[in-house]
Amino acid sequence: MNVLVLNCGSSSVRFQLVQTDPARAADGTDRALARGHVENIGGAALLKYEAADGRAIRESEEILEHKIAVEHVLALLTRADVGVVKDRREIDAVGHRVVHGGERFKASVRIDDGVVQGIEDCFDLAPLHNPPNVKGYRAARELLGDAVPQVAVFDTAFHQTMPATAYLYGLPYVLYERHGIRRYGFHGTSHRFVAARLATRLGRPLDDPALRLITCHLGNGCSVAAIRGGRSMDTSMGFTPLEGLLMGTRSGDLDPAILLHVMRKEELGPWEVNALLNKHSGLIGISGVSNDMRALLEAEEGGNERAGLAVNVFCYRLMKYIASYTGVLGGVDGIAFAGGIGENAPAIRRRTLAPLAGLGIHLDEGRNRGLRGEEGEISPSPSAARVFVIPTNEEILIARDTMHLVGAAS
Ligand code: ADP
Repeated sequence: MNVLVLNCGSSSVRFQLVQTDPARAADGTDRALARGHVENIGGAALLKYEAADGRAIRESEEILEHKIAVEHVLALLTRADVGVVKDRREIDAVGHRVVHGGERFKASVRIDDGVVQGIEDCFDLAPLHNPPNVKGYRAARELLGDAVPQVAVFDTAFHQTMPATAYLYGLPYVLYERHGIRRYGFHGTSHRFVAARLATRLGRPLDDPALRLITCHLGNGCSVAAIRGGRSMDTSMGFTPLEGLLMGTRSGDLDPAILLHVMRKEELGPWEVNALLNKHSGLIGISGVSNDMRALLEAEEGGNERAGLAVNVFCYRLMKYIASYTGVLGGVDGIAFAGGIGENAPAIRRRTLAPLAGLGIHLDEGRNRGLRGEEGEISPSPSAARVFVIPTNEEILIARDTMHLVGAAS
């Protein structure tokens, strides 16, 4: 089955065409036939397309709306010179990454009018993300027809198993009841994918109620999850993806009273503070150098102290979360590093875990240094808590969920 995976942002469409094999999906035979993105929708957009065999296209084109962007994607996938399917009819289903499913969506669902309404009901919770997700669905429906099934895979769904003790803020309960103010968590698809691989590497069933996993998704956005028996028990992002770890441009945890103080002192309005916290904080905010971990490690090596400070704060905060989640789970059997930083930066893994030796968490520095961008163990053998690098693959999981839901319905 060929599943078109769409991730529609406010001004972008990311896509992959994934071939999934219903009989063999569990053993990882799914493969991306082509992938790419359209960026800067609303102006001079940039199209990037790459087929699995390396044939690639980069084009710039005026693209004013998501539907036209999806139309371009379909044209590229079927184009005689670079396409990977002959005809649109070879696209069997569409799987959408949807950011917010609120408390209603606890798992992936096949999209119908009721589901669209449910996603729209969450617009308030994710005003920048959910509307383009619906646009992507409508575009695909118009271009591929009603007969092609579409599925929504939510970033929040995996974390719906968190207990109230983990998701409630210390605020008047009425705010939760009236406005849904609680912790939701994000990156759920990535944590779910990585947890499943980690369980496989540990040789344990994911749903073993005794299995305690901590997964670290460290990309431009960063989050950690505490997972028992395959169920998310806690995660570091909260009501929005701003909470938790230090990130490329986001602050992560802070004292909310700071906002009022800074608004007064700097004469900032709510939208300026929002930009401050989301775009100008985190690694870029502390270092003043870059939001990119690679650039920061290089700058630190070159003697830039603030770059080193930003990296230290990043690792310290992550270390604290891993330690606290060891408490949440009553111990830990497996820890995984994923995302651009988690997969490619041995120094970050070392600096994060070094203080945790007292909790029985150790790295084999030779293994750690040698592992970049591929799956493998980086703890010594034997270890009570085993540590792995696990490249994440949200698109494959979206394609598999889509295949299962479509298969189940047909
Ligand atoms: P996104 O969240 O946008 O998918 P990625 O998962 O690609 O982002 O992660 C991007 C981050 O990974 C950036 O901070 C980048 O610097 C970092 N990164 C990628 N490669 C390396 C590397 N070799 N060393 C350190 N950091 C890296």
